[in-house]
Amino acid sequence: MKKIKNFISGKVDAVSLNYIEVDDPSKGEVIAEVVNSNDKDFEKLIESSKKGFKIWNEFTPLKRSRIISKFKNNIENNIDNLAKLVSLEHGKTIEDAKGSVIRGLEVVEFACGIPHLLKGDFSQNVGTNIDSWSIRQPLGISAGITPFNFPAMVPMWMFPISIACGNSFILKPSEKDPSCPLLLAELFTEAGLPDGVFNILNGDKTAVDMILNSDDVSSISFVGSTPVAKYIYKTAANKGKRVQALGGAKNHLIVMPDANIDQAVDGIVGAGYGSAGERCMAVSVAVAVGDIADDLVQKIHDKGTTLKVAPWTDNTSEMGPVISKQHKEKIENYISSGISDGAKLILDGRNLKIQGYENGYFVGPTLFDEVTPEMTIYKEEIFGPVISVVRVKNYEEALKLVNDHTYGNGTSIYTSDGEVSRNFTTNCKIGMVGVNVPIPVPMAYHSFGGWKQSLFGDHAMHGEEGVRFYTKLKTVTSRWPKSIQSGPEFVMPRN
Ligand code: NAD
Repeated sequence: MKKIKNFISGKVDAVSLNYIEVDDPSKGEVIAEVVNSNDKDFEKLIESSKKGFKIWNEFTPLKRSRIISKFKNNIENNIDNLAKLVSLEHGKTIEDAKGSVIRGLEVVEFACGIPHLLKGDFSQNVGTNIDSWSIRQPLGISAGITPFNFPAMVPMWMFPISIACGNSFILKPSEKDPSCPLLLAELFTEAGLPDGVFNILNGDKTAVDMILNSDDVSSISFVGSTPVAKYIYKTAANKGKRVQALGGAKNHLIVMPDANIDQAVDGIVGAGYGSAGERCMAVSVAVAVGDIADDLVQKIHDKGTTLKVAPWTDNTSEMGPVISKQHKEKIENYISSGISDGAKLILDGRNLKIQGYENGYFVGPTLFDEVTPEMTIYKEEIFGPVISVVRVKNYEEALKLVNDHTYGNGTSIYTSDGEVSRNFTTNCKIGMVGVNVPIPVPMAYHSFGGWKQSLFGDHAMHGEEGVRFYTKLKTVTSRWPKSIQSGPEFVMPRN
């Protein structure tokens, strides 16, 4: 059985003898074990991270950038290997896995520009012969805790920028698919990153709690479910750490009567069923405005029935399994609750069996019509291939639905009316908004983050928000002694 360990000081390493099983979701079989780290592992890792920071902080931003640039090349040369590890342990199709690695790579490309991003502000003569400038300095040891659904991309939202800013970084990946982050760490070391700058601590809540409670860790970046995000935010803030904690989602896609309906259907099906609905930007609610609802439901149904569900090893697969047996059961329970709450089940993804993969955690595309806001399937995040259609009379009702929902990660509107689109982008209470675009994931040089119960903390991830999060602002005011001496001043200086 493959044993997955930690990555400390440039090497794989583990003290703990306690291991957690890692599954191949397509086959429903255990394929590896990952170490559940203990306090001895953590002590070793923290000493290494401290040493790493001391060395790395001395590197000029340009020298850091050159190493990050070599890391970028290493990723480019290993995209297939990285994607295979994602698909094997997560189950998503190989092309989708490659896409996710490339979206992470884009953050690495952004981080190569760190000398420019760390340029401060300078003001000459803020007072007579007095100059003032602002600089951004690293925090020290920063840490990231990441979810199972993007084992390459989400860690890459964090560590390239933190490390580019001069911090050392500890990653606690999801215990469900930990192999890809380990390969990323090896590729960074091969690029010349000094030992201890990027360490990986594997494990479950015990590992997370050791990080949260450590006085040596300055900041926490978290991405995962909302209940855990709240816990991380409270615990880390209570310890005086800087924290950004991204949570769950329930993304609505509004289809206006004047929308190009075929485009909207493609958007809903791709973003609702892609990656088996296990994306925080997945579309889970389609809001049908006015009289287009019957047509919309019929067309989603037709596309859903022809969608190919198969393991990632089948190149024609459009959707793989969900992550675990427990998660499959949870999704199936949501489907049952939708039926008992009175929603109309149009497509049922339960009891799907794939020949040769009978034990795999597959759930087929599922579609509900006539869903209402009181139903559990509307209120809660399902994180599976389940689309709920809610019918409303007009745009105002659709906007109210979006704004009243507790989650605020992403949303989208399909329309050919510029005025409606502008009203929506201005007035919706959501962090990431699309117009005729189903999954409005911001590029690396913009920033990713939701509102309401989808983000706790003040900073979104990557882009300039990332640089701000991983640095402390310092402002210097300076006068040289030969300027005129005027004696002590007892009032606030004025110009
Ligand atoms: P999760 O919250 O169960 O786990 C995330 C991380 O937290 C993992 O590393 C896990 O080991 C750790 N963890 C789990 N339970 C913990 C606990 N009680 N205390 C401390 N740490 C704990 O999430 P998941 O199931 O891995 O991922 C799916 C969730 O992530 C979904 O809710 C999805 O919407 C969300 N997500 C959000 C975004 C975003 O950008 N907002 C992006 C991706 C995923």
